[in-house]
Amino acid sequence: MSEEVAGERLPRLAGPRSRELFARAIGLMPGGVDSPVRAFGAVGGTPWFVERAEGAYVVDVDGRRYLDYVQSWGASILGHAHPAVVAAVRDASLRGTTFGAPTEGEVELAARVTSSVPGCEMVRFVSSGTEAVMTAVRLARGATRRDRVVIFSGCYHGHSDGLLAAGGSGLATLGLPSSAGVPAGAVADTVVASYNTLPDLDERVACVVVEPVAANMGLVAPEPGFLAALRRACDDAGALLVFDEVITGFRLGREGASGLYGVRPDLWSFGKVVGGGLPLAAIGGGRSLMEHLAPVGPVYQAGTLSGNPLATAAGAVVLDLLTPEAYATLAQRVARLGAGLSEVLASEGVTAQVPVVGTLLGLFFSSAPVRDYAGARLAAAGGRYAAFFNEMAARGVAFAPSPYEVAFTSLAHGEEEVELTLEAARGAAREISRT
Ligand SMILES: *Cc1c(COP(=O)(O)O)cnc(C)c1O
Repeated sequence: MSEEVAGERLPRLAGPRSRELFARAIGLMPGGVDSPVRAFGAVGGTPWFVERAEGAYVVDVDGRRYLDYVQSWGASILGHAHPAVVAAVRDASLRGTTFGAPTEGEVELAARVTSSVPGCEMVRFVSSGTEAVMTAVRLARGATRRDRVVIFSGCYHGHSDGLLAAGGSGLATLGLPSSAGVPAGAVADTVVASYNTLPDLDERVACVVVEPVAANMGLVAPEPGFLAALRRACDDAGALLVFDEVITGFRLGREGASGLYGVRPDLWSFGKVVGGGLPLAAIGGGRSLMEHLAPVGPVYQAGTLSGNPLATAAGAVVLDLLTPEAYATLAQRVARLGAGLSEVLASEGVTAQVPVVGTLLGLFFSSAPVRDYAGARLAAAGGRYAAFFNEMAARGVAFAPSPYEVAFTSLAHGEEEVELTLEAARGAAREISRT
């Protein structure tokens, strides 16, 4: 896609300093970024460079302030630079930033995670969601002595080779590499199924990996009974069920999606919220399964910075502040935002779906509800998201720069921020309904 063409058609939002930095960055880093979606390829224009952030807002290097619904892709559930998190990280850093040896902070965070999520008796901390899911799959293969992994189109499980597979639409198919550089052999045991459709499982399947609420193709809720049916199908086939709760864990509630839907997987991956905005993620599960990991068991896994003391300190503070009241408040704000966005878009004649699952909110410019990746792609193909994104950004509200992401609301988004968002959405909707 030509960003220049899009840039001429759409408002140029980034100021001179961001543009100067982006020009430099492009010469030094591929695409000028360290993660592709940050380059604004899907929405056109130049990304703003963030200088600092506070609560619900980010401020860029040109001093422009945005009400932020990215929140580091959900990692910052308390809002940016929460004073308790900043203090915990500062205090921890004064004692040293990494040791390559066990720390009390790991024990403290592990205790919080395992006491929160029923069935998750042990954890292993790593530094990214990618590592967490990659390790969960290795563990499942090691424990079952089977090779096959079933995933679903439109779910994202990080960028490890075996999970970068794309399928055809419709029936479950053996995956093809979805990125250059992934050998066919790396995905030869990866089966790609369609979300919300029960795949056939057999005795070759080590595990089924699923986002229990899909939040990487916009927001797609599991249809009633889908997760329970997956649980039964795994049990019948002797396969393990892995919930990738890197987004939903500690965001949908203390028990994540497994608690919300009452379906218990064999293994979990956590990330984002659990690291309190620092690089930390976790694999979790029952004791007998987790003890297949080295050094107790034969499944190898390791990490120089795993369980980093700054990250465990931040994660523990965040989990301590996520009380039932905090989740209730967040859910209430998101419900108001969802109902308000639906109303505003409809009243301005813009056809859209605004799915809400607890504290998560999505936005599809489509006339029908979306239940799988085919539907999400159809909605994105309409091209309206880019216009909406740019109109919102021009009004100081930063949604994700891609139609396949969700809106991350933090506890720092108060009633005032929700109303500001709806006011901006009314103006944006009015503008895009003319085109
Ligand atoms: C973000 C994400 C990952 C990957 O996590 P990283 O920390 O970016 O490696 C994996 N699974 C899901 C569901 C995610 O949203």
